[in-house]
Amino acid sequence: MCWLWTLAVAFDYHANRSPHNFAEPRLVTMSQSQTAIETSLGTPLTTLSEDETMFRASVREFAEGELRPRVEAMDEAGKLDPALIKQCFELGLMGIETPEEFGGAGASFFTAILAVEELSRVDASVGVFVDVQNTLVNNALIRWGNPEQKQKYLNALATGSVGAYALSEAGSGSDAFAMQTRAVDKGDRYVINGRKLWITNGNEAEIFVLFANANPEAGYRGITAFVVEKSFSGFSVGKKENKLGIRASSTTELILEDCEVPKENVLGEVGKGYKTSIETLNEGRIGIGAQMIGIARGALDAALAYTGERQQFGKSINQFQGVQFQLAEMATELEAARLLVYNAARMKDAGQNFVKEAAIAKLYSSRAAERISSTAIELYGGYGFVKDYPVEKFWRDSKIGAIYEGTSNMQLQTIAKLMIKQ
Ligand SMILES: Cc1cc2nc3c(=O)[nH]c(=O)nc-3n(C[C@H](O)[C@H](O)[C@H](O)COP(=O)(O)OP(=O)(O)OC[C@H]3O[C@@H](n4cnc5c(N)ncnc54)[C@H](O)[C@@H]3O)c2cc1C
Repeated sequence: MCWLWTLAVAFDYHANRSPHNFAEPRLVTMSQSQTAIETSLGTPLTTLSEDETMFRASVREFAEGELRPRVEAMDEAGKLDPALIKQCFELGLMGIETPEEFGGAGASFFTAILAVEELSRVDASVGVFVDVQNTLVNNALIRWGNPEQKQKYLNALATGSVGAYALSEAGSGSDAFAMQTRAVDKGDRYVINGRKLWITNGNEAEIFVLFANANPEAGYRGITAFVVEKSFSGFSVGKKENKLGIRASSTTELILEDCEVPKENVLGEVGKGYKTSIETLNEGRIGIGAQMIGIARGALDAALAYTGERQQFGKSINQFQGVQFQLAEMATELEAARLLVYNAARMKDAGQNFVKEAAIAKLYSSRAAERISSTAIELYGGYGFVKDYPVEKFWRDSKIGAIYEGTSNMQLQTIAKLMIKQ
């Protein structure tokens, strides 16, 4: 298939390049001196390199050809089509940043962001499925995994095993470090007891990056990250939530009853799980930003097409200045959100401190997605309110952006903290 080939070629290019080279797009038709001028002037954030352009086109083709025909049925059923999950692995979408030696594509963080945006433009459930795998689970293992853990789990995650990231509990969301799940040292293993709630990919996952407190007396300094396999004794998946939006993405409870986890499955250092969770989520937030700009683009594209077709008062409704202004507002807000998300992602790839920018990008893009998809419903009139048309789903899917990976208030708190010395 054409998209498969293109994606493979795009990844082949990545293999020979440093992940940071994306700041230097290969403008092959330019003369050397023009390139020099371009470099000295800086590159527009939205200008993609040749590799990035090819990669995005391949993901778009997959999203349009394979994903779009399944969106409505998956939303209705509240379940991802297993055939799509298989295709995500075959396409290399489940190990975008994972180094090639561990079966991944060895591409940049920004590349993962492009994938999440493109998938979410068609279906935000598949967007978050790929996002959690790449920006949270793989990321945590790439950063904190020891060589044996990388060999075992990164390979599995790139080639066929779905991952999930388990931090939240019924009583600890924003205050994540108040978790009640406990890990007790039993010599060669830890025994974990507790329950996790709201876990994305819970039904599909086989590998869980899971947080438990191994030394409650030390407070948050007892929190430890573990790699838990679904097959471990004492581990089970509980109730699946029936949700407003991203319905095809599974959100489940995890139950740990004397769950036995070998000591070699401690991820990073004992007592440093708080750092692992904070730092992974800082990156994850840019992924949620990408999901939100994907949703907003999907809604705007739909509204643009519909307002060109819908006739009232003897002409297309996009001929009315009132409608044109609404479309222009949507495009302006989307562009601002996109620049924030792309900038945070490129800062991460450049090795710069991006914490404030990631929080701003998530906060703003989730608000933009909600407003843009809401206006899209209004532009569809009554048709926007029914499930025969795509825009009501974009609006339902947008709402989660203000909640997971830190609520909007938590993003405001982070931004303010980094601005004001307290
Ligand atoms: C669909 C879905 C998928 C999810 N996926 C995952 C996952 O994969 N892994 C995972 O670990 N978790 C996941 N979560 C959990 C998610 O991260 C939490 O729901 C989120 O962090 C908020 O926590 P909470 O629901 O306990 O809300 P609370 O923390 O109880 O917040 C309730 C309200 O109080 C406000 N609030 C709380 N504290 C403050 C404060 N100090 N100042 C101002 N306002 C405050 C919040 O902003 C919010 O408006 C998911 C949740 C959902 C709904």
